[in-house]
Amino acid sequence: MNPWVWRLYVCVGVVLTALFWIGDPVTQAVIYGVLGTAVSVAMLMGRWLQRPQPAAAWWLVWAGIQTSLTGDVVLGLRTWAFPASTVLPVVENVLYLFSYVGLAAGQVVLIRSRSAGRDGGALIDAAIVTCALALPLWLVAVAPVLAQPDQSSAALVLRLAIPLADVVLLVLLLRLLTGGGTRNASLYLFLAAMCGWLAGDVINAALSDHGHVQSYWGGALYCLCYVLLGTAVLHPSMAQIAAPSDRDGRRFTVRRLVLLAGMSLLAPGLLLGQQLVRGHVDAVPIGVACMVLFLLVVARMAGLIRQVERQAERLSELAAKDALTGVGNRRSWDAALDTAVAAADRSGQPLAVALLDLDHFKRYNDTYGHQAGDQLLKGAAAGWLNVLRRDDVLYRYGGEEFALLLAGATWADARSVVDRLREATPAGQTFSAGIAHLAPAETPQELVARADLALYRAKENGRARTEYAPSSVAA
Ligand code: GH3
Ligand code: MG
Ligand code: MG
Repeated sequence: MNPWVWRLYVCVGVVLTALFWIGDPVTQAVIYGVLGTAVSVAMLMGRWLQRPQPAAAWWLVWAGIQTSLTGDVVLGLRTWAFPASTVLPVVENVLYLFSYVGLAAGQVVLIRSRSAGRDGGALIDAAIVTCALALPLWLVAVAPVLAQPDQSSAALVLRLAIPLADVVLLVLLLRLLTGGGTRNASLYLFLAAMCGWLAGDVINAALSDHGHVQSYWGGALYCLCYVLLGTAVLHPSMAQIAAPSDRDGRRFTVRRLVLLAGMSLLAPGLLLGQQLVRGHVDAVPIGVACMVLFLLVVARMAGLIRQVERQAERLSELAAKDALTGVGNRRSWDAALDTAVAAADRSGQPLAVALLDLDHFKRYNDTYGHQAGDQLLKGAAAGWLNVLRRDDVLYRYGGEEFALLLAGATWADARSVVDRLREATPAGQTFSAGIAHLAPAETPQELVARADLALYRAKENGRARTEYAPSSVAA
């Protein structure tokens, strides 16, 4: 799209909004109509020219705005035809409520396409901020409505429904901001537009009385919302607004921590402020908000602790495994050998170790390439794992050398295990092996040194064979 289109839209929009602020009621009505129509057209143009995905998100938001504008038209006509009427404006209010359904559904679609997988943490963060902001909203917009005497239940429901819808919208807005996904100009403009909308609602709720759902300040904020929303859809970055990003939305950044801490302090701060300024406090709403906030913070903490625990488990798994073959690495071999030697010393059961070394592996690498060598190492380990008993454990000792820990194995057992591995070795590859049994009072290092000597002898004696260790290193 021509980059001047959105710039022109902003300029005209800002001028018209400024005129709204200083204009008389008729000018205001005209400007409001022009900006409302402009945002509808801008959204259609943006959809058509930039083809953002998912299309449903934009149709839903467009439908929401459209429904709200229809409500404005009905309200305008009613006020013009019956200026003194005190009848409850049901049709307008129902239309306004439906507009939230469109806006909320559009945002849900957007959130789902921007984030890869579920992110409970981001949802709780959004809920914390919403809970903190819902408290002043309640005090300004809801509590006064509840306090008004002699109002019909229909009027009460209609007047409470909009603040409630605002809260839902706020959760979604924050979820949009805190979750994964690209953060570009279009996203920020969209979020700013929705904030303008919410601010308009709050001001209207605070200023309007007995069913007069619009106010001057509210109207001005809606105008701003339309300018921002139109700019968001005409801006070139709109096409990418739903794209997931590499940025990990799950990272708990310092900025997020500061925001959450600030939001959590809002309710107690309000309590303190009310006491100091007015001498009395709205104990019930503030108390409830504090309790909900504490529970949300605890839930967030529990989630973070679970996440850290899962990561620690994953890391210790990774630290114990050889990346190429997936069998235990040298580190876990050392630990397992120490444990097995101590256990064998205690129980008196036999313990054998076998060291295996692929024959002429350097030649294999030189002939077929290093990658083929890697594949052979992987294939050998996989083939061997298939034929091992449950108690026999294979480790990659280093390079093309492997080690077997054979708890409870006699000489014959150890020999037959190694023979089975020979048959399971892929690509006609051979290996040499040295086996040693734990001698009384022997250290793990001495045991391995004897197995190594036996392996050395197997190499010397022509490879592709198994040798038993002498009964002591000196021998
Ligand atoms: P011998 O029969 O005496 O054991 O001969 P060899 O060639 O197997 O032994 P040598 O120690 O001379 O060479 C070992 C080779 O193993 C050299 C090295 O490049 C290769 N090697 C070690 N680790 C890896 C690995 O992870 N991948 C691949 N592809 N090759 C490896
Ligand atoms: Mg070697
Ligand atoms: Mg070798």
